Amino acid sequence: MNEIKTIGVLTSGGDAPGMNAAIRSVVRCGIGLGLRVMGIKKGYRGLINGEIEEMTLRSVSDMLQRGGTILQTARCKEFTTEAGVKKAAEVARIFGIDALVVIGGDGSFRGALDMSRHGFPVIGIPATIDNDIGCSEYTLGFDTALATAMEAIDKIRDTAGSHDRCNVVEVMGRNAGYIALDVAIATGAEVVLVPEIPFDMAEDVIKPLIDARNRGKKHYIIINAEGIGNSEKIAREVEEKTGIETRATILGHVQRGGSPSVTDRVMASHMGFHAVELLVKGEYNRVVVKKDGKITSMDIEEALATKKPLPDRGIAVAKLLSL
Ligand code: ADP
Repeated sequence: MNEIKTIGVLTSGGDAPGMNAAIRSVVRCGIGLGLRVMGIKKGYRGLINGEIEEMTLRSVSDMLQRGGTILQTARCKEFTTEAGVKKAAEVARIFGIDALVVIGGDGSFRGALDMSRHGFPVIGIPATIDNDIGCSEYTLGFDTALATAMEAIDKIRDTAGSHDRCNVVEVMGRNAGYIALDVAIATGAEVVLVPEIPFDMAEDVIKPLIDARNRGKKHYIIINAEGIGNSEKIAREVEEKTGIETRATILGHVQRGGSPSVTDRVMASHMGFHAVELLVKGEYNRVVVKKDGKITSMDIEEALATKKPLPDRGIAVAKLLSL
């Protein structure tokens, strides 16, 4: 493999706060360490279409604090085919790109793995509000999304308390319960439902609410994960079985945007540096990860096979704290 002189950077899959901070870090660290950096718009779709421009130190000015991604993101069907990946690698080579930094989630890394199998060096940076990437203890955007959801639920609780109401609040997370669990702890929810743990409506939802009412509680929050869904149906059943007026609120896309938190900015900056450092050292086909509290990296194939269980102590803590 020849020495890497020019790198491409793209964001792919769902957007997450901190993606801009990561792009900025890759661009500034890359240029600072003597590389050329090309920005690829709209993820793999933009790569296939050649939507590629050289980035300068100034192209990433004034974006550290912005949510979303200045490079924009997309989901690209063509790229999931053999021909699409081959074309993407060809276009990258035409633009003089020697290696690709992919900022995104598991799906994006599967695409990156396909690129590496076509002999194209890649590095992944984990970014998704859902924190559902098995190889890394942390994914960019998670902390900001938690803060956004917490702030919204604090407001919902104010009004629930004023009316003796119950609220079923659905938070994002795709098939994972990381957001739901931490938000439940942070907002003192009475009940938390996550896709990883089967639940019984009578035992795990209705009974704790009735017990809470008997202990004198005046408002009730049920955090329901997107992976379970059906929040309206759950709300109707709660109202029927407990007699407590119950509303469902689906927080939705407000959880994705917003200015990244300190954690997301700092983490994104370090991860971007780590990605560039790996490439400069000639190490590639790796994902930058947080492991045992430190930023390090893992082979991309191994990274995709790694699972991260939901911390079961978290569920126990959420239950005890809701007493
Ligand atoms: P995320 O990266 O947030 O998990 P997606 O799962 O939507 O988001 O993936 C983003 C993009 O990555 C997809 O549009 C597609 O181009 C590519 N991708 C996803 N899954 C695969 C796969 N199994 N093989 C190759 N490319 C994939």
